[in-house]
Amino acid sequence: MAFRISLAYLKLLLTHGVLLFVGFFLIFMYDKKDSYEDMSEAVIHNMEANQEEQLSNPYLTQGFSMQIHEKTTRKELYNDLVYTPGDDKKFFLGVHMDFRDTNDTVVINDDRSFVVRGTEYVGRFQYNLTDSYQQFVSIAWKLVLFYLVVVALIIRKGKRSDVRLLEPIRIMSATANRLTVNNLHSERLNIEGTKNELKDLANVINAMLDRIETSYESQKQFVSDASHELRTPIAVIQGYINMLNRWGSSNEEVLQESIEAIQNEARSMQDLVEKLLFLSRHDKKTLKLTKKRFNMRPLVEDMVRETKLVAGNRIIHNPVMEDVIIYGDKQALKQAIRIFIDNAVKYTKDGDEITILCQKINEDCVITISDTGIGMTKKDIDHIFNRFYRSDHVRNQNISGHGLGLSLAKLIILAHTGKIKVRSQFKKGSSFIITLPKRRF
Ligand code: ADP
Repeated sequence: MAFRISLAYLKLLLTHGVLLFVGFFLIFMYDKKDSYEDMSEAVIHNMEANQEEQLSNPYLTQGFSMQIHEKTTRKELYNDLVYTPGDDKKFFLGVHMDFRDTNDTVVINDDRSFVVRGTEYVGRFQYNLTDSYQQFVSIAWKLVLFYLVVVALIIRKGKRSDVRLLEPIRIMSATANRLTVNNLHSERLNIEGTKNELKDLANVINAMLDRIETSYESQKQFVSDASHELRTPIAVIQGYINMLNRWGSSNEEVLQESIEAIQNEARSMQDLVEKLLFLSRHDKKTLKLTKKRFNMRPLVEDMVRETKLVAGNRIIHNPVMEDVIIYGDKQALKQAIRIFIDNAVKYTKDGDEITILCQKINEDCVITISDTGIGMTKKDIDHIFNRFYRSDHVRNQNISGHGLGLSLAKLIILAHTGKIKVRSQFKKGSSFIITLPKRRF
């Protein structure tokens, strides 16, 4: 890893080195050309000040040559060109570079038209940059050597600091390799001595491990609670089967009691298994809903009618039933509302009252299920939506149930972006207020 990083550095340094030298070469040559251009300007300036006859090249020795003629008459006023116009083909974009002979040659052609006292002139100025080029080459070799030494030093130093920099990653991957479900609670990435981004990364991974641990623990708890819940009905069924084995066939009463008890337990187990499957397969994101527009009122009215039939000894009111069009999964919402109504029946006594409302409030659909039953303590309200939670007084009173209904109902309501509000007073009664937001199409 450290080696690969060093290699990447090396490539970077070398490509940038080449760019640097090319840049340096161009700037160096351009600077020289610039000073020759000043000479061309001076010649033109002189022509303006003096007569053309006095035209001369004061810079000949410095590699500056020129040819000037009148544009219209083609009369030549001056010519000391080193490379004659016939050599034009050797020039590309005004630059002639010929390294074939021993005297390396770099020459630039600079063609200009100018007017002096009404006469148009054409001038060709040639700048010989061979000296500058050779000067550059001799400096460049020294610079290249110096640069290579610097690169070597950087790589050596970089390799050492890479190893130091990568040490936390090595420790992190070793820790990650050791991680299993058995040490998930104790193993975390060590962030001591780690800096900046690596520290952030380690923190993010540790937070992720915390979340995985929490979810793993809750899954474990779920499986253990589910097994516990299943154990009771199985034990009851086994008990009755043993009883039947001993005297069941001869005793009509025992036979009847056993069949009823086994039927009840089987029904309870079926209900439990269905709820368990539903909860373990879905969460509010994966729950597949078949949403449609429908009026909530007839659905709630149907449920009120059904409840009146099966719980005739409870007083059931439905004073407000309003039409509310909502966009949702009719079956799933029916299943959720049924859980609240069944609970209201389950946790009330004969003669208690149950009130069911279906209202349209601020375009939202609000369904309220209130009862005058056993109510809940503050502690219960905080936990009733947790899987398998049942309040102590419910357990003590032997009221049937597994503590999964409300978790399931909540999942469905949340999948519809709804809310559930709970109000309750111990021994006085409870109210569940479900708000389903304004329909969306
Ligand atoms: P279950 O009813 O099967 O126990 P739920 O998830 O439906 O499971 O309810 C969880 C707990 O919430 C119940 O055990 C009970 O303690 C409490 N609860 C729910 N609804 C009511 C209610 N209407 N009145 C009093 N307690 C309630």
